[in-house]
Amino acid sequence: MPIYEFICERCELRFEELMRNGDKPRCPGCSTNDVRRLLSSFAVHSQSANLGGGGASKSCSSCAGSSCASCH
Ligand SMILES: [Zn+2]
Repeated sequence: MPIYEFICERCELRFEELMRNGDKPRCPGCSTNDVRRLLSSFAVHSQSANLGGGGASKSCSSCAGSSCASCH
C-alpha cells in the first residue's frame, strides 16, 4: 500500500499515512480529518526554486509582459 504525505488544515502538521480505500486519515496532532494530501516532494522543490530564481529577465511581475515602466 502506498504511503502518502498529508498536511492538517487545522494545525498544519505534516504526517505520512497509508491510504486505505480512499479514506482520509486523521491528524495525529489534533485528531481532525480535515487534512489535505500533498502531491509529491518535487512540487515543493520546484516551488521554492521559482521563489529563489526571481524571474527578472524573463517576465515582469507587474505587467506579465515587457512593456511597463519596471520592465525597462
Ligand atoms: Zn492537526
